[in-house]
Amino acid sequence: MITNHELYRHLAQKNDNKIVLLVLDGLGGLPLTPNGPTELEAAFTPHMDRLAREGSCGRAIPVRPGITPGSGPAHLSLFSYDPVQHDIGRGVLEALGIGFDLGPDDLAARGNFATVDENGLVIDRRAGRISTEECIRLTKKLQENTSLSDEGYEVFVLPVKEHRFVLVVRGPGLGGQLTETDPLVTGKPPLPVQDESGTPEGEHTARLINQWIEQARNVLADEPRANSLNLRGLAKEPGLPKFPELYKMRAAAIAVYPMYKGVARLVGMEVIDFDGDRPHHEIEALARVWDDYDFFFVHIKKTDSYGEDGDFEAKMREIEAVDQVLPQLLNLDPAVLIITGDHSTPAKLRNHSYHPVPTLFWGQDVMPDGALIFGERASERGALGVFHATAIVPWAMGYAGRLARYGA
Ligand code: ZN
Repeated sequence: MITNHELYRHLAQKNDNKIVLLVLDGLGGLPLTPNGPTELEAAFTPHMDRLAREGSCGRAIPVRPGITPGSGPAHLSLFSYDPVQHDIGRGVLEALGIGFDLGPDDLAARGNFATVDENGLVIDRRAGRISTEECIRLTKKLQENTSLSDEGYEVFVLPVKEHRFVLVVRGPGLGGQLTETDPLVTGKPPLPVQDESGTPEGEHTARLINQWIEQARNVLADEPRANSLNLRGLAKEPGLPKFPELYKMRAAAIAVYPMYKGVARLVGMEVIDFDGDRPHHEIEALARVWDDYDFFFVHIKKTDSYGEDGDFEAKMREIEAVDQVLPQLLNLDPAVLIITGDHSTPAKLRNHSYHPVPTLFWGQDVMPDGALIFGERASERGALGVFHATAIVPWAMGYAGRLARYGA
């Protein structure tokens, strides 16, 4: 069952109960041997286990059964937006991730500096992974020396990291279904941007962007390594309904990595700045802004990174590190705490996976169930069963008394 925003917008009501959504990226795992534990089951997590015993568990499907999600769509789902219905481009995520304030007239692309030979064939798709300082210099050079010929259009070229940058084009009537220029292999020339929507906006947008690319490549032509570029994930700002408006909750995001801040911004959450990158730094930041918001999204990245490295042990230790900071979080007295992941990243697979994600809800009015510890297999004995991840925020709102009665 996928969340119906209009219904919840209608029922949402304010109160003083605070909700924390604690996301361990890629939380779900797999046993290395059939009878062995998963990463979460193997981890020593006395606090999570107590919360599972006192609360309710289930397993969340991020997109659709059997589908392995990227972290962007998987987070949209956690925030209650069906990612199939709201397809957001990689360029949009990248732009939001560096803190660019994308507006409704903006189209964003992820850019990669590249090296081409004298025949224009790509010989290095990452321009030898130039330094971030180089990236800053080059994006400045492009910003100062490129423009769009059509009246009323603006262009922004922004550095990300190493060979990566963001291009934002701003102006009326941009759109379409635009293809990428990266040939994805070396020895081939970059491709032109093409529109697959067949609309006049799409055609116009493709023409504008191809003009800019030509100019930009001329500006870069004398560079030793980054003498060309490619654009990927071209997409418009999707104009999603904003979370604080839908649910009548002021929402804060506490995350270390840019993309997660970006998705949170996309739905209207405020991103909190803080120093440090460990779970305890994130909980300190949470404590600092506790009085100013109603809903808090706290994102832990490294569980996913270690899963992708195939490092079962390190992923398990990171889960334990999060468990150790839970008392500090609980001291803040949240009405509802959710612990989940955006998808599974079993170390066994070294990749994201489609497996449903163990999820726990804890709070005063949460019904305790048969899940006596927090883990994949224990979650099967939870009362909530298997549900779509878009149901997480609505469940939490119900537990927090933030939904009015439906009908008389
Ligand atoms: Zn993820």
